[in-house]
Parts: sequence; C-alpha cells; structure tokens
Amino acid sequence: MTFEQLALRPETLRAIKEIGYTEPTQIQLEAIPLLAQGIDLIGQAHTGSGKTAAFGIHIIEHIDSTKRKPQALVLTPTRELAVQITVEFKKIAKHHKTSVVTIYGGASISRQSEELHHGASVVVGTPGRILDMINRGVLHLGEAKIVVLDEADRMLDMGFIDDVQLILDQTPKERQTLLFSATMPDPIRNLAKRYMHTPENLTVSSDAVPLDKIKQTFVLVEHVKKFPVLLNILKSKNPELTLIFVRTKFGADKLARNLDRSGHSAVAIHGNLSQNRRDSAMHAFRQGRTKLLVATDIAARGIDVSGITHIINYDLPDEPAVYSHRVGRTARAGASGQAISLVMPDQFIELTDIQRTNGLKIEREMIPGCVTGEWFTDKRQHNPSSHHSHDHKKEHTTYRFGDKFDSGFD
Ligand code: ADP
Ligand code: MG
Repeated sequence: MTFEQLALRPETLRAIKEIGYTEPTQIQLEAIPLLAQGIDLIGQAHTGSGKTAAFGIHIIEHIDSTKRKPQALVLTPTRELAVQITVEFKKIAKHHKTSVVTIYGGASISRQSEELHHGASVVVGTPGRILDMINRGVLHLGEAKIVVLDEADRMLDMGFIDDVQLILDQTPKERQTLLFSATMPDPIRNLAKRYMHTPENLTVSSDAVPLDKIKQTFVLVEHVKKFPVLLNILKSKNPELTLIFVRTKFGADKLARNLDRSGHSAVAIHGNLSQNRRDSAMHAFRQGRTKLLVATDIAARGIDVSGITHIINYDLPDEPAVYSHRVGRTARAGASGQAISLVMPDQFIELTDIQRTNGLKIEREMIPGCVTGEWFTDKRQHNPSSHHSHDHKKEHTTYRFGDKFDSGFD
C-alpha cells in the first residue's frame, strides 16, 4: 500500500516523499481514510509507529491554509513534544504553506502572541500556556474544527483534565476530536467519550510487536552499587545515544553530575530547569553531542530521537505503564534497541507489576557489581498474585528520594 492510494493532495504527497517516507505505517494506513470521514477516533498504536503523521497528514489535508485562523489544535503533555510535533507538521505542510504555531510554557509570551497575530492555521501546544493565551484574548479557538490530544491517556489524567476541559469548551461543539496514544486504560477510554461524538476505536498491533524488537533485561543491584553498576553497563554495552531514566529532578542532576565526573559527558533534563536549559539538553542529545541524557519521565512520552540504542531505567518508573513509554524511546521506526533496568532486591513486586501490565518477560542479566545470588527465598514474594501482594506493594512503592517526583506535567 502506498501514500498515493490514500487519495492525498499532490502537495502533501510531494512533501511526504521529500521527508523520505516511502510507505505509510499501519496506523497511518488505517487512520487516514477513517479520519477523512470526519469521525471522532481513539487511535492506539505502539510507540514509534508514526502516529504523529497519521493525524498530521489528516490535519494538513483538511484545513484551509489560506485562512489564518486556528482550524486545528494539538495538545501535548510536554513542551518538547509540542516542538517536535510542530517540526514534523511543518515538513508535511511544506508545500501548503500552512502556518503552524507552537504555544508552550517557559518561552516568551510576547513572541508567541506575535506569531498568533500573524495568523496560525494550526496550533500545537501544552495546556497551561494555551489556556493563558486564550485568557489573554490572543488565541481564539472558535474555528478549531479538529482537536487532537496526543498522549491522550496522559492528557485526560488528573494532572491535565481540568485545563483540557476548559480548552475544549472554547472550541466548536461539532469539532472532530482525536485521541492518540500507545496506551489507553479502560477508565480513560470511557472518560474520553464525554468529550467525543461516539468515537470509533482503532487499535493497531496491540500485541506489542515492537516491544519485541527491544531486548529487555534487568540487573539486580544493591542501592549503594547502582552507580558503579551503571558505569559497568556503559562500559560493557558501549552504547550510542542512551536515555537514562531516573525518578526525581534532584536525582537527574546528581546522576548527570556524577557521570560527568566519571568521564562520561551527560546532561540532565527535568521540569525544574529553565526552558533554555531544557532546549539545549534536547538539542545536544538530538545532535549526538551528548551521548547520555539523564531524564525524569518528562522525556518518557512521545520524544522521537533517532539513534537511541539504549534505555536505562536507573530508577524503576512509579507506574508500571510508564515502562513501555520509556523503553519505546528506542527502536523507533523499525530500528532495534535495548532496555536495561536496575532493580533493587526489595523491588520484586515492582518488576512483576511492570511485566504483567506491559505483557512482557524481562530477563535477568549479570553485570559486574550486581547481585549474583538467587533472588528471594521468601515464598510470599515468589507469588505476587497472592493476597499478600498488596501489602508488599504499599511497602515497596513508598521508596522515594528526597525531592518531588517529576511527573513531566506541563
Ligand atoms: P509515535 O507517535 O507513534 O510514537 P512518531 O510519530 O513519533 O511515532 O514516529 C516515529 C518515527 O517514525 C519518526 O521518526 C517518524 O519520522 C517516523 N515515521 C513516521 N511515519 C513514517 C513512515 N510512513 N515511514 C517511515 N518513517 C516514518
Ligand atoms: Mg507520538
């Protein structure tokens, strides 16, 4: 199946060719014709499957680029993702001369206002600043006929839902509402219907084929040995671009500093940094000037950097579902990759939850400095589905560092 068969306009086809996409991915193939019917859609497809272009192509095809009023709005959980989507949209829209404006916190309000004044056909942004721009009277969404929530399950969870609702209230009721994510828990799927007109569900390869492409292992390690084991992982794997996930902002800074001191140049990215620092960290990583990016879950969703060979979970994620988003930053668009998680002896339940939630088997791997003996002689912990598991879970998930967990909310 080719893009030509999707009945796209010549300008769009030309742009797609120039980007270098030879054939549509499965989600693009299935979603684009459905969306053209004007229906609301909940699109679920694995990380790295090309969801951005699926809704991007639809938007560019169905708005009037000569009309400089926002006709499409894309909401994202992080600023970095908003910027990334804008870059891809501009490529797709190249020959339509569509004006795409990014609205996100931490950057100049006056510059963004000016861009809106010049006229935007498409707006991509994070909820907080979008709402701010609406309240300032510089952003009018009365003609936004297509609204996309990317990383939709995140956008509809408690951190964002109020802002998202206020924004949706500013858009026409008869709009087309589209939700995309790699994960869509049932409660969120049900909640979503409140904001949609009898949405259709499109799920592509829910059997997690691409996660298979990622070699996933864990290393059992005592807390005090985590850093030396990390150094040994870096030594033995000799990775190219590596994304190292930690739980807290403080932990991200500290780990990047310690890596630097050990001769591994690393930068940190988290929600406490100025937007300039965040931008320069992402930029250095995208260009390969920094091979190690130490990140909180702010970088777990949607970020597409080609050439990430390794994901290291220095700290396990707080929520098991976040694991698949984190490791999905590697093996993008058909490439391969490896994910390694550092697991402490008291984190058996966390590891079990991660495997169960994501439908995975994560193999143990030995790295110099790790715990080599058999894990857990305690029978109760061998059987996490027993009635003891909840008590254990409580106990184990209270493990925290000194500062606030960075959820990546924007
Ligand atoms: P998702 O949002 O599903 O996680 P993205 O939209 O970020 O995935 O796309 C992942 C990668 O695949 C990006 O680098 C993108 O440029 C690339 N890509 C998208 N569509 C195609 C295609 N049809 N052919 C080849 N590569 C594609
Ligand atoms: Mg995406």
